[in-house]
Amino acid sequence: MAVGSSVKSLAVGQRIGMGFQHSACLSCHSCTHGYEQCCPKRKLLRHVDGGFASHVVWDSRFCFPIPEGLESRVASPLLCAGATVYSALVNNGLAPGSRVGIIGIGGLGHLALQFSAVRRRCACACVCKHVGMRR
Ligand SMILES: [Zn+2]
Repeated sequence: MAVGSSVKSLAVGQRIGMGFQHSACLSCHSCTHGYEQCCPKRKLLRHVDGGFASHVVWDSRFCFPIPEGLESRVASPLLCAGATVYSALVNNGLAPGSRVGIIGIGGLGHLALQFSAVRRRCACACVCKHVGMRR
């Protein structure tokens, strides 16, 4: 493992995670307004060799330290599905007590439910095709 000489926020041996996005220019209109995922120069997992390998070269600005005590199996869904739904909820002004509709309680839906119902105490209506999940 190694970090580049200009990387100051991460250290060798530190447990980190990264999402689907490898990099962005961080200077275009999208990047400077908080929408790096819309950057025309972004690189995603599919643009990078080794995305599913044991080692990969990744832009440090898109690597996130995983806090002590947070198991990797819990942290990993937050880096992709979690970021996707959290961004949608926050960008749409999710306030405590809001009403939220969630379609499907799969990889993204169960995290949307946790962010909105548990963290923000929102009233959630979930649509799911599994009869056994009524509640
Ligand atoms: Zn950009």
